[in-house]
Amino acid sequence: SNPMIEVDEWVYSTCGYCSVGCGLYIGVKDGQAVTVEGNQDSPVNRGRLCVKGLYEWKFLQHPERATSPMIRKKDKLEPVSWEEALTFMINKMEEIRNEKGPKAIGVYHTGQLLLEEYYALGKLAKGVIGTPNVDSNTRLCMASAVKGTIRSFGTDGSPGCYEDVDEGEVLLIFGANPAEMHPQLWQRILHNREVKGTKIIVADPRTTLPAQIADIHLPLRPGTNIALLNAMIHVLIRENLLDEEMIDEHTVGFSAVKALVEDYPPGRGEELTGIPAETIVEAALLFGKAARGTTLYGQGVNQSMSATDTAALINTLHLITGKLGKPGCAPISLTGQASAMSNRDVGGSFSLPGFRNPANPQHRLEVAEAWKLDVEKIPAYTHDIMKMMELIDTGKLDLLWVIGTNPAVSLPDQKSVRKSLENVFLVVQDVYYPVETAAYADLFLPGAQWGEKTGTYTNIERRVNLANQAVEPPGKAKGDLKIFQEIAKGLGAEEGFSWLNPEEVFNEWKVLSKGRPNDMSGMTYERLEKEQGICWPCPDIHHPGTKRLYTARVFNTSKGIAQEYGDFNHEEGRARLWAIPYTPPPESPDEDFPLWLNTGSILEHYHTRTKTKRIPELVITAPEGFVELHPLDAERLDIREGERIRVVSRRGWIQVPAHISTTLSPGQVFVPYHFGDLDPSEAHLKQAANHLTLNWKDPFSKQPMYKTSACRIEKVGLA
Ligand code: SF4
Repeated sequence: SNPMIEVDEWVYSTCGYCSVGCGLYIGVKDGQAVTVEGNQDSPVNRGRLCVKGLYEWKFLQHPERATSPMIRKKDKLEPVSWEEALTFMINKMEEIRNEKGPKAIGVYHTGQLLLEEYYALGKLAKGVIGTPNVDSNTRLCMASAVKGTIRSFGTDGSPGCYEDVDEGEVLLIFGANPAEMHPQLWQRILHNREVKGTKIIVADPRTTLPAQIADIHLPLRPGTNIALLNAMIHVLIRENLLDEEMIDEHTVGFSAVKALVEDYPPGRGEELTGIPAETIVEAALLFGKAARGTTLYGQGVNQSMSATDTAALINTLHLITGKLGKPGCAPISLTGQASAMSNRDVGGSFSLPGFRNPANPQHRLEVAEAWKLDVEKIPAYTHDIMKMMELIDTGKLDLLWVIGTNPAVSLPDQKSVRKSLENVFLVVQDVYYPVETAAYADLFLPGAQWGEKTGTYTNIERRVNLANQAVEPPGKAKGDLKIFQEIAKGLGAEEGFSWLNPEEVFNEWKVLSKGRPNDMSGMTYERLEKEQGICWPCPDIHHPGTKRLYTARVFNTSKGIAQEYGDFNHEEGRARLWAIPYTPPPESPDEDFPLWLNTGSILEHYHTRTKTKRIPELVITAPEGFVELHPLDAERLDIREGERIRVVSRRGWIQVPAHISTTLSPGQVFVPYHFGDLDPSEAHLKQAANHLTLNWKDPFSKQPMYKTSACRIEKVGLA
């Protein structure tokens, strides 16, 4: 910490950016946050913070904080009182409900609320409004990992913990870049490599920082994850690097996997992925021969071709080699946002609380009883956000309430998304104004953010961490839980929403969690602070929490939300192995669009920069969008470093400076997704990567495929 900064109080909290979940203290002076300090006792980060966490306090007092509700009057959002804003919203909701029914209302939220807020919002949307149109932006980052996890193990939740990263002899980083996305986890990986000599394999088309230091880099062609994994599994079976006991006693489906991967010898792997056959063999042997191995996978899996299938195949790789349920052995999905896992825990979007399946009548009944509601009220399915956009376009969805997310930058195929946003009654609840999506809003509600409210975040390793309120929200901005409570009250549901504080919400959820895979019934806020977070399940007050799942090699295949796949023809209590053939992506480079387009993130920014563009220290090093291309492509197209060029796809174009880089293979370009259209009327400020991306969803997870489409580069003036 900065010894020059005096504070009145240090408030125990947890970083609100990424899902690593670093512990920290917020320094408060005269009612304002003035600094943060890493929490030395936190087992997650041992006092260290990354650049985003260090400056987190700065965005609380920004002049562009939204401080008043606003209603669109004569084409402009004008400040109004809370009473006027909420009456306007509730009247509109009731009018639509009476005219068209609850399905004409949609809610699209975020991975950055608190667990308690997701719980309240899920109850409000599904129990009170009664709409199936509820989704969150976690759809864009980890829906495929969720589905893949459920497919393999029968229920949601990462099997491992950070200690498995420390204790693995080999670490497979598959389609992830923790150096940019999960900086403190990356520090831990670097430390292990230095001190313990952990071997690192990186599967990524780009030579990212992890790829640069890896023992083996597998620079696969975009869209070929399945081909690579099948070839690796082929080698593992051929060399008999298998855990026979795990396969025979605890899984089903091995013979189908064995038969399928016969068609994927390393030579075919090379043909499909572009990686030399001997490198594939080397990687498979390194992973297979190690007694302990952990995999970290991210958006290169979840936002890519065959995303759910790939996640299930990574789990298959771990199951057949027995690398699960013991120290240093786990497939771990790297979620992005601080509380994406909390949303999954309490059923904030596609599921019901405690990983209950809305399609299961018994699960719906349990929730209805807890909520004291008619079971008929709770929808048996939910729609994803892209489906909601379609419903707007076909006149079936009239009101969309967007909370803490920015679809006018983040959804694929922006042209059609923006048209949909124009054609719906749009309520935007956010902490900053202006924000791109609010340009389409009819009503704006100012919420509160990290530091201004109390609640919990569940991180990557299932650790439930407490984040305390340190300061008041600015102006008339209000905690989101309070906003949900007031809207519920306006809709006549005061009784089920009368909590006096967030811990009362947590306590209500705890009852529903009892006996579920993510049982939190032994947790209290006091324990969470004293014990530096607790990993679920934690079924009673003396239980220390659970580092890793499936230690007894018993899988919850019949009790989770997996039923939506109808795949219960396997024996109860066993994990399922998946045999998956490679299929090529729906769009590949051709004569008109000869380059692969990949989109992703950079260290300085987070999401659509709603927060990070307001931190000068971050903007100074990453002020605007860019396109990275290989020197050979730059030479062929006569493009110089820094030259502003157009990237064009079948959907649209952007205009950004060129960065010439050898981190990509020839024929591939990379565009960061953080940047919106800084001013849509200026061509050189049109920078949203999602003008280019394809509106194509994984068939199982409905997650958009941001990683794999085709584009071309044009010199400006020749376009
Ligand atoms: Fe926050 Fe993630 Fe950085 Fe930790 S690594 S300080 S949780 S942004």
